[in-house]
Amino acid sequence: MTESHTAIQLIDEAKEFNPAVLDYFRQCISGRDVGLDYHVISVFGSQSSGKSTLLNALFGTQFDTMNAKNKRQQTTKGIWLGHTREVTVANQGKDAIDDLFVLDVEGSDGAERGEDQDFERKAALFAIAVSEILIVNMWEQQVGLYQGNNMALLKTVFEVNLSLFGHRNDHKVLLLFVIRDHVGVTPLDSLRDTLETELQDIWSQLTKPEGCENRCLYDFFDLKFTALGHKVLQPDVFAENLGALGSHFSEKPNSKASYFKSEYHHNLPLDGWTMYAGNCWNQIETNRDLDLPTQQVLVAKFKTEEIAHQALVQFQESYPRQLFGANQRQMLIDTLQSLKSQCLGDYDSFASRYARSVFLETRSGLTKSIEAEFQKTIANHLTAVQEALIANFEKELTAKPKTKSFIEHLTATQSVSSEEFRAYLSELIKLEMVPSLNDEESSFFTSLEQACTLQSQKYLKQTVIRSGKNITTGLKEGVVYLLMHPEKDLWDRVMERFEFVISQSLSRFDVGDGLFDFQTGLSDENNKKVYQQIRSKAWRSLHEIVHENLSDDNIVSTLRERFENKFRFDENDSPRLWKNEEEINTAYRVAKEHAFEVLDVLSLAASSDHVEIIPDVPIKFNDGIDDELDGDGMGEYEDENGIYHQKSFAHILTASQREKVIQKFKREANIAVIEAKRSIIKTTTH
Ligand code: GDP
Ligand code: MG
Repeated sequence: MTESHTAIQLIDEAKEFNPAVLDYFRQCISGRDVGLDYHVISVFGSQSSGKSTLLNALFGTQFDTMNAKNKRQQTTKGIWLGHTREVTVANQGKDAIDDLFVLDVEGSDGAERGEDQDFERKAALFAIAVSEILIVNMWEQQVGLYQGNNMALLKTVFEVNLSLFGHRNDHKVLLLFVIRDHVGVTPLDSLRDTLETELQDIWSQLTKPEGCENRCLYDFFDLKFTALGHKVLQPDVFAENLGALGSHFSEKPNSKASYFKSEYHHNLPLDGWTMYAGNCWNQIETNRDLDLPTQQVLVAKFKTEEIAHQALVQFQESYPRQLFGANQRQMLIDTLQSLKSQCLGDYDSFASRYARSVFLETRSGLTKSIEAEFQKTIANHLTAVQEALIANFEKELTAKPKTKSFIEHLTATQSVSSEEFRAYLSELIKLEMVPSLNDEESSFFTSLEQACTLQSQKYLKQTVIRSGKNITTGLKEGVVYLLMHPEKDLWDRVMERFEFVISQSLSRFDVGDGLFDFQTGLSDENNKKVYQQIRSKAWRSLHEIVHENLSDDNIVSTLRERFENKFRFDENDSPRLWKNEEEINTAYRVAKEHAFEVLDVLSLAASSDHVEIIPDVPIKFNDGIDDELDGDGMGEYEDENGIYHQKSFAHILTASQREKVIQKFKREANIAVIEAKRSIIKTTTH
C-alpha cells in the first residue's frame, strides 16, 4: 500500500522550526516501527526551476507549484517537508519504497537575492546536515554558464560540508544533478564533464580548514547526473526519463543501481530525527558551530533516556506490590527476572538503533534503576527467608539427636543454615537481580549468631535446672537419714554424700582435674562459673535440708530417741525390767550421756577433726523464682544483696536454742525416769 501526505512547512519564512513536525511524523508512520529504514533527501536549485513539479511527479508528494496560469504567483518560502512511500518508475508505474522524507527548499528569485542569501546559506547548511541525497536541479542552459545562484550555492554547500565533516571519513552525501529541459543536442556525458570541471574548479578555490588542505571533492561527495526532457513539450520523453530516475530510488539500498548508500545515512532512528533536525536548525539559526557528531550523541542521549523512562514506567506499572514469603523464592526469581527482561527488551528494541556507546550507557542506568527497585523487594523477602531459616534452625536444634553433643549439633545445624542462606544469596547475585547483598548477609549472620547464643543459654539453663533437681533429690535421699541417725562423724558423711551426689549428677560433663565442660562452647572460665552456680544451688539445697531437719524439736526427739534406745532397752534390745531405783539412776546417766554425745554434732556442722563446715561458694537465697537462671547465667554472685552469709551454714543451734533443747530433752527424759520408777512401785506393791 503506498501513500503520501500533504507537505508541511518545516521551517517557515521567519526561520522558525515547526514544532508540529512531530505530529506530522506520527501521522506519516501511523504506528509502524520504522527504525533506521527511512531516508531523507533535499532538493536545491534556482527559483521556478521546476523542483516541486519534479518531486510531485517522482514521489507523488503534494508540494505547491507555481501555477502555470499565474506565473507571478510566488510559492511560500521556507523549507517544506513531504513524505512518501512510493516512487514513479518506468511506464508511469509506482514502486513501494521505504519511508522517504523530502525537503523542498523554496528560496527566492534572483532578483530578491541580496536580502535572502542568509536564508539560502542556512537552508543549504541544514539540508546537508540532515539529508542523504541533495538533488541539484538546473536548466540545461545553466550548465557551463557558472550561473550565479546555483554554483554559488554549491560553493556554500562544499564549504559547509568541509567544516562539518572535514575530520570525518565515514560520511558522504550524494549530489544528484538533474538537468531539466534537456533538448538532447548536447549529450548528457558532455554536460556531466562540463559540470564536473566546474565543480572541481569551485573545490580548488575553497578556503579549506586546517588539516583538510589535501582532501578532494570525492572524499565527501558522490556525484550522479541525469537529464529530463521538457515536461510540456516532450511529455513522453519526460515521463520516460522520470521513470528511469525513479527506478534508482526504488532499488534496494546499497545495490549498484540504488542511489541510497549506508554511508549517506545519519544513523539516527526516525524517532530521533525530528529532535536532531530541530537542534541542527537551532544551532544554524543562532550561528553557533554545528558539530554534527555531538548533535547525534545528544539526540541519542535524549532519546535513549526517553525510551528508558517509558520502559521503566511500564516496568513500575506491572511491578508486584505483594511481599514474597520465605517459600516463594522461585516465584520471586521468576517474577523479577521476567520483569527485568521485559523492561530491558522494551528498551533494547527502540534504543539499540542509537549510537552504541550511548545506548549502552543509558541501558546500564536503566539496569541500575531496575536493581534499585529489586533491592527493596529482595530485602523484604530475605527478611522473611531469614526468619524462616532461624525458626527452622531452632526447631532442628530442639530435635537433638542423642548421638551428638549439644555443641556439635549446634555447629552442624548452624552451618547448614548458613550454607543455605549463602547459596541463595549467590544465586540472586548470579542471576544479576542486584549487584550486592552484603547488608542482608551480615544481618543474617548477626541474627543466626544471636539465635545460637540464645539456644546455648537455654540449653545451659536446662542443664543447671536438671542437675539442680537431681542433686536435691540425691541429697534428700542420703542426708535426711544421716541427720535423723547422727553419729559423731555425721558431717564427714554428709559432705561425702554431698560431693558424691554432685559429681554423679555432673559426670557426663566431667573432663577431669576438677574441670567441667557443659558442651555449649563456653570458655573454661564460664564453664567454671556454671559449675560454681550448680554448686551454689547444691549448697542451698543442703542448707535447706539440714536446717529443716535439724529444727529444735527434731533435735529434741533425736536426743530422746537415742536416750530411750539406751534407757529402755538393754544390750540385746530387750525392754528393761527395772529392779530398783539405783539401777534406773545409772541407766539414766548412761543414756543421757549417750544422747548428749551428738548434741555438739547437731548444734554445729563441723568435720570430725573439728573444722567448721563453710560452703566453698556463696549461696543465693533471694531470687524467689527457684531454679531460674537469670541473664546470661553468669555473674550471679556479683549481686551482694541477698547473698547468704556462708558462715551461717554450720550454725544450727544458738546457745539459747541449745539450752532450750537441753531443758526440753531433760523434761522428757525425766518423764521416762518417773515412768520407770513407777513401774518399780507397781511391781513391789503387787
Ligand atoms: P520551483 O519553484 O522550482 O518549485 O518550480 P515549480 O515546480 O513551482 O515550477 C515552476 C514553473 O515551471 C511552473 O510554472 C511549472 O509549470 C514549470 N515547469 C515545471 N516543470 C517544467 C519543465 O520540466 N520544463 C519547463 N519548461 N517548465 C516546467
Ligand atoms: Mg517549488
